[in-house]
Amino acid sequence: MRIAVVSDVHSNIEALDAVLLHAERGGAIDALWCAGDIVGYGPDPDTVIAVLRARSVQTVAGNHDLAACGMMTTEEFNPVAEEAARWTQEHLSADSLAYLGELPLVLKPSAGVTIVHGSLRHPEWEYLLSEEQADAQFALQETQISIVGHSHLQFWSRERQGGSPLFAAKGGETIELGDGRYILNPGSSGQPRDGDPRAGYMLYDDGAATVTWQRVEYDANVTCARIIAEGLPEFLGTRLLAGR
Ligand code: ZN
Repeated sequence: MRIAVVSDVHSNIEALDAVLLHAERGGAIDALWCAGDIVGYGPDPDTVIAVLRARSVQTVAGNHDLAACGMMTTEEFNPVAEEAARWTQEHLSADSLAYLGELPLVLKPSAGVTIVHGSLRHPEWEYLLSEEQADAQFALQETQISIVGHSHLQFWSRERQGGSPLFAAKGGETIELGDGRYILNPGSSGQPRDGDPRAGYMLYDDGAATVTWQRVEYDANVTCARIIAEGLPEFLGTRLLAGR
């Protein structure tokens, strides 16, 4: 199966459309997986949910999804994220709110894979960014692969005795999965934070046992203008242009 894996789409339909087009240009997509944060920050939450659902996405909830549907308080959010969460909640249809409210925190979309937004020990809010955190993840991981999001960074880690380092992945980079266990982060489709504004995602071929990270150009100016037009904080638009 050829599987497209997105994460942290954050209500950015221009980025999601570009990612799906790019993924399908290389061949048919057999499944679409998402590591959470479908909504929050961006201007088109309902449209993004509709596009993902139309493709039978298998997804977990991220902290922004939980905040948007009222299942998590925004006390820990910074003021800009809190304002965006309130805006998102007010602009979601009842159907979308119900959909977000039913998403699992941990999901096994296939026999060898677990998806969680942050980490297995703290699904909603831990940023998995260090070797120590990777080891803690592997200790709880029941499958060969776990897919995480939340940090908006593309990386991978392979379980190793004495510490499992994280490796940043570049767009176009492919790794062949061996017998070991892995943590994979597809990066953010809708709000990259590594200084590269291009939309991020990952292609996972479970037959060939390969993973390829991708970056896709899209017109972030359109999304930025939409954010400002909707009265969302301007910073949420301009950061897309810088990929920060
Ligand atoms: Zn996010």
